[in-house]
Amino acid sequence: MMRQVELVERVKGYDANADEDALNRAYVYAMKMHGSQTRASGDPYFSHPIEVAGILTELKLDHSSIITALLHDLVEDTDVTLDQIESMFGRDISRLVDGVTKLTRLELQSEQTQHAENFRKLLLAMSEDIRVLLVKLADRVHNMRTLKYIESADKRRRIARETMDIYAPLAERIGMQGFKDELLDLSFTELNPEGRASILTRLEFLQSQGDDLSNLIVEDLKRSLAKDGVEACVSGRRKTPYSIWTKMQHKNIAFEQLSDIMAFRIVVGTVEDCYRALGTLHAHYSVVPGRFKDYISTPKPNGYRSLHTGLIGPERHRIEVQIRTRDMHDVAELGVAAHWKYKQSEIKIDGRQYRWLRELLDILEHTANPEEFLEHTKLEMFQDQVFCFTPKGDLIALPRGATAVDFAYAVHSEVGDTCVGAKVNGRIIPLRAGLENGDQVEILTSRTQTPSPDWEQFVVSGKAKARIRRFVHMKEREQYSELGRQILLKSFREEGYELSDKALGGTLKKFKADTLDDLYAAVGKGNTAAREVLIAVYPGVRDTAKRRQLWPFRGRSRANKAKSTALPIKGLIPGMAVHYARCCHPLPGERIVGIVTTGKGVTVHTIDCETLASFEDTPERWIDLAWDLADSEETHTGRLHVVVANEPGSLGDLSTIIGKNLGNISNLKITNRSLDFFEMLVDVEVQDAKHLTDIMAALRAAPVVISVEKARR
Ligand code: MN
Repeated sequence: MMRQVELVERVKGYDANADEDALNRAYVYAMKMHGSQTRASGDPYFSHPIEVAGILTELKLDHSSIITALLHDLVEDTDVTLDQIESMFGRDISRLVDGVTKLTRLELQSEQTQHAENFRKLLLAMSEDIRVLLVKLADRVHNMRTLKYIESADKRRRIARETMDIYAPLAERIGMQGFKDELLDLSFTELNPEGRASILTRLEFLQSQGDDLSNLIVEDLKRSLAKDGVEACVSGRRKTPYSIWTKMQHKNIAFEQLSDIMAFRIVVGTVEDCYRALGTLHAHYSVVPGRFKDYISTPKPNGYRSLHTGLIGPERHRIEVQIRTRDMHDVAELGVAAHWKYKQSEIKIDGRQYRWLRELLDILEHTANPEEFLEHTKLEMFQDQVFCFTPKGDLIALPRGATAVDFAYAVHSEVGDTCVGAKVNGRIIPLRAGLENGDQVEILTSRTQTPSPDWEQFVVSGKAKARIRRFVHMKEREQYSELGRQILLKSFREEGYELSDKALGGTLKKFKADTLDDLYAAVGKGNTAAREVLIAVYPGVRDTAKRRQLWPFRGRSRANKAKSTALPIKGLIPGMAVHYARCCHPLPGERIVGIVTTGKGVTVHTIDCETLASFEDTPERWIDLAWDLADSEETHTGRLHVVVANEPGSLGDLSTIIGKNLGNISNLKITNRSLDFFEMLVDVEVQDAKHLTDIMAALRAAPVVISVEKARR
């Protein structure tokens, strides 16, 4: 473990202005707060942040990054809060620590994150300051270096797999070759120890065969360059077991040549020197066709620049050579970190967010290879999202610009519908406030709350929009529905009826409504006229007005008078006595038939009267009759079989309804009386069959009426 003095000296070594005091305080603070916690290795926990800081000094990162590394696990693993860190080390540091903490929390989610590719993008998108990502990568490097101490093989493999799928590509993406190689090799060691061992054995064998060979080649290259006056640093480097392994996998070949295991590097002063060195090599040695690549004029997406060429080198060995300047070399090794180093002077202390991400994207954009950059476009799309956490740590992805209301709906529709407020990172915020990457959002709800139409103005997610719109429509409909109910209530009252669910229930089909509310809403919106509904329930209403004019029915006096006038029936034999059957009470409008009875004359029955069965054998007694209704003022008696609820006022209701429909009760006989019902026969004087049908419809609509049928006996 790196000692305090050593760490501070290292930072001071490359950055004379580094805040020595803050570095010392961070070192001691991390040590104190992690206290007696231990790592799987048995080491004290605080050795981990100190090692991570040490790794970052190799990248010559600024003191803020180093301090962040020292503090990076405090918020997640101890009681230390961000506020405490801010008060001790300032806003910049607390923001960076917060960033790393969020990535760590994200990491904990990663088991459920199926798609490594998306997860990498997520990490990138969340690392608003590239230093956050650098600390996280160094964190992973150290965790991988100490992976072997973790007891569970499953856990080791999971972490190694995750490193290979997510962190190594991420390191490559931002150009950190060193991190990438180490992460891959450590993962490889865990995931395929046999494969790695076999490659190492083979490498050692090859190297023992040509131990001096690489030195020989380096010297030969140096001599050639010196002859042409190019000042250069030449070195040979063994490829990593993992890169050899993947090459073997992809190309399905065995490795036996020097070019398979060694790469030679020439570092020169200027870009011009790069091309001069290339010219020299191509003049002195044979060129392997198809191996030359100019990444100087066309850098790789991650900012990598170099000339690559393949030669038949000294001793007729095939070799690969990379030519680059010192700056290019730094970028190749350190990637974004090197980039950061050169731009250090431009960094503002208050640390503008997104600034580094934008720079990273700039680097990524400088590419001519569309294939490699397909991915980048996806990355940009990814920038359209914002990632927040529930208090339990679940990750919620939302469109950028999303508000607490969007978040609430994303959690659950019901949470959205009832949300009244939100806490972001523990502080109450307005519902319309935009959320930031990594915010922890707690939604406050109230059962009495309902979605506000105003919300529609500021939510951005489709789900929230749809739910709110639906609710607003529902609310609107409720209002229309209530209005419609009031209108109907009034129209019914004007005609002297009570509006009841029962009354309306039978008309739903006619108005193509599924529920009463639908019908009310239709009336409220004016799509259906209240009077139409009234008539549908009480068909008699339509005719009542007309009847009042044409047929000012006044009960018994009129009935008495009727007896003296001729019956409005066609087909009678003049002079023959006629009377209506008491079994079926035929009414005008109904089909009728006459039965001749000797000494009694003609009895008029309805065509469906059951009594007629007894005359089936004597067809000679039947005569065809029909109503002759022109100008008729005759009244007729219809008999109804009615069942009403046995409750106060039910008989009153019955007579009121019949009266309103201009019917006159001439006789009423209760035939059965139970605890719950009255069963009765009611004789009603009406104008015709339709008049009686209207009355029956009105009765059926009455809540107290259980059933109404025309009596058939
Ligand atoms: Mn850590």
